[in-house]
Amino acid sequence: MGRHEWAHTGVEEVAPGVHRIPLRMPGDVLAATNVYAIVGADGIGLVDGGWFAEPAWRDLETGLAALGAGTGDVRAVAVTHAHPDHYTLAVELRRRTGCTTYLGAGERETVEAIGGGGHGLADFAASLDRCGVPAELVERHLSAQGDPALYEAPSEWLSDGDAPPVGGVRLDAVATPGHTRGHFCFADDEAGLLFTGDHVLPHITPSIGFEPVDDRHLPLADYLASLHRVRSRPDAALLPAHGPPGPSVHARVDELLDHHEVRLAQCGDALAEGARTAYEVAARLPWTRRLRAFSELSGFDQLMAVHETRAHLAVLDLRGRVTARADADVDVYEPA
Ligand SMILES: [Zn+2]
Repeated sequence: MGRHEWAHTGVEEVAPGVHRIPLRMPGDVLAATNVYAIVGADGIGLVDGGWFAEPAWRDLETGLAALGAGTGDVRAVAVTHAHPDHYTLAVELRRRTGCTTYLGAGERETVEAIGGGGHGLADFAASLDRCGVPAELVERHLSAQGDPALYEAPSEWLSDGDAPPVGGVRLDAVATPGHTRGHFCFADDEAGLLFTGDHVLPHITPSIGFEPVDDRHLPLADYLASLHRVRSRPDAALLPAHGPPGPSVHARVDELLDHHEVRLAQCGDALAEGARTAYEVAARLPWTRRLRAFSELSGFDQLMAVHETRAHLAVLDLRGRVTARADADVDVYEPA
């Protein structure tokens, strides 16, 4: 199967009454967002909404038509997190049809920041400055994500353990902070299904904590704890927001945990070789599945790479493996 074939397969029934509908994304970074339509006695429920644009909207209409339904039959959308490729089409769908939308309560600050046009980019830029990133790189490549006009509060904010009704089933809302602070997975334990959003993806490791809110939390520590949380639940079929479904959440979680231990070790090695800032460490690490040099990444991806490295250094600090100190302009790390 080609790397992006999952994005062009049309509607796929992944379990009885559960249909995967890939919706196109603007640009081609992730190709598509999987929306899962659950067809039940009281209409259709969706997990995730996709990135609102007319092509994606048409993909949804076409997908629902194949199920003998239309957008007006959607009663509820449970959204895994506030990133635009998951939330914005859900907002538009509610405006057009009056359906109910659910989103994790931890996303409230993000939704308010983007909806208010703030995007929190100044805070993000300040954080990158303290990572030792050249100012010119930040100025040229840090850009906002998400149209403020498509950000507003959902019908209901979710808390851990809530059970939103989606297509006639009550899904178990499992808080999995890390990718974003309010990320949720949705479980149907009886059917052996876990809708993982971006928490567990089959081909890539999700970005960590890319959101317009301050970074008083340790997003990677949260993320690793959320991987362990999902690992401690019964194994289930993996129904990700990007990429093809897979048979085992646990198998992929184990790979992701291994991956992050390797990255933590590589960060420690870079410090042992004399790197001192998150930027200097990131510049020494291999990136992406193809192990590309930092200098080969796009400017925006370099910023994301530094942000990710900073998250790893914070976990090493938490584990007592490095010492961190704030100099006047930058955060400096040394092997403990
Ligand atoms: Zn995301």
